[in-house]
Amino acid sequence: MNNQLYGNLIFELSKTGRKGYSLPKNPYRHTTDEIPASLRREQEAQLPECDELTVVRHYTNLSHNNFGVNDGFYPLGSCTMKYNPVINEEIAALKSFTGLHPLQPVETCQQALWLYHSLQELLSELTGLSEFTLNPCAGAHGELTGLMVIRAYHQSRGDHQRTKVIIPDSAHGTNPASAAVCGLEIVEVKSKSNGQVDIEDLQRLIEQEGPSIAAMMMTNPNTLGIFEHAIPEITKMVHEAGALMYYDGANLNPMLGACRPGDMGFDVMHINLHKTFSTPHGGGGPGSGPVGVRKGLEPFLPTPRVIKTDNGFEVNTGDDGQSLGSIGSFFGNFTVMVKAYVYILSLGREQMKMVGPLATLNANYIKESLKDVYELPIEGLCKHEFVFDGLKDKSTGVTTMDVAKRLLDYGYHAPTIYFPLLFHESLMIEPTENESKETLDGFIAVMRKIAEEAKTDPEMVKSAPHTTPTYKQMLNDNN
Ligand SMILES: *Cc1c(COP(=O)(O)O)cnc(C)c1O
Repeated sequence: MNNQLYGNLIFELSKTGRKGYSLPKNPYRHTTDEIPASLRREQEAQLPECDELTVVRHYTNLSHNNFGVNDGFYPLGSCTMKYNPVINEEIAALKSFTGLHPLQPVETCQQALWLYHSLQELLSELTGLSEFTLNPCAGAHGELTGLMVIRAYHQSRGDHQRTKVIIPDSAHGTNPASAAVCGLEIVEVKSKSNGQVDIEDLQRLIEQEGPSIAAMMMTNPNTLGIFEHAIPEITKMVHEAGALMYYDGANLNPMLGACRPGDMGFDVMHINLHKTFSTPHGGGGPGSGPVGVRKGLEPFLPTPRVIKTDNGFEVNTGDDGQSLGSIGSFFGNFTVMVKAYVYILSLGREQMKMVGPLATLNANYIKESLKDVYELPIEGLCKHEFVFDGLKDKSTGVTTMDVAKRLLDYGYHAPTIYFPLLFHESLMIEPTENESKETLDGFIAVMRKIAEEAKTDPEMVKSAPHTTPTYKQMLNDNN
């Protein structure tokens, strides 16, 4: 790793006039002549000029500094960095899927439409909501789509004054962002010290804002990994005020096999297929955020819709007046759906029931094994994830940031830090259901070791990472 390519920017490796190719001059064409002078650059673009081998080595070296689920334990809370089985990739890469074109005649892609429709039905069964659209391309995109459905529903009833959304202060940042993009106003409801929504504060908001509330957005278990026990009461209050309940199902792990948002009274939800149903994510890769609705809201779902008829599957692209119409290109990210479908089928009905309990067991095992050295602000059972408020011993001056940096030296990805905002030193851990006891024990041992180091050698922890390449370090190495 320690050669002169390492640690430089590709621009710094540039040598004027050096090229990665050599082609004979084309005597027949002068490409720049075809572009009108008014549209051409006045100056050459300042691009790096390198030979091919330099480029290959540069990016290969960079890629070695990457950390993924396949490299090691990745307990990034609220992100569900679960293992993505190889079989998903192999099936999604089949030519019969990758060769499809969204505009080809429906009679030539009935099997793909069958998979698409079957996935919609499976998601309905898993969540208790009656209809799904698979079109949204991310969790936040699903939130926006779901909120647009809710707005369309209110407007169809002439309820135009419903422009506000209640969101708990513990919510994922995309919730208020999506509401704002949808043109809705955010009203924040407080959490109590046990991490659950403060019912009295909610009551007050509903009395104050009642007829202007369009929806309440919730995650359950919430972003603290805590199950909201008052859900029946909350949904009743919100429904009585004429508003709808939105469920953020990005992290559905703890639910699978345990309970269903539809049964809890939610009207609209999204799922992150790229979290709950295992598709690689985190590098900005393709996602999928299907939106499900309860009966009565399906006319508002976006198009195209895949419909089952007596003669096979059809695609409904028409706007019957109530649909939102298109919210993206064509059907969404189809191969992510294939991966989710394979994941669901390979687990099967019985093992699917183990996902929630195992995700919950793993999180509680870590929490209980570390709570004597890390500050646990909310005692009791958690679901798939939980939050520490930094180290228990605050006298060392070692912060959550330092612990996270030191973890990298031990070959672990850091947990989510400084989120949620409810605590100063949040350290949010989500192991997922996939990890073995040995892996969890290894992580626990290292977390305990760092807590010990914080006492014996706080400066060393504060100046971490020591063995993990950082850009600053790479520059120093080169000088
Ligand atoms: C990840 C996540 C989202 C957003 O999903 P994206 O696909 O990143 O847009 C929303 N809510 C929660 C709780 C999440 O964890």
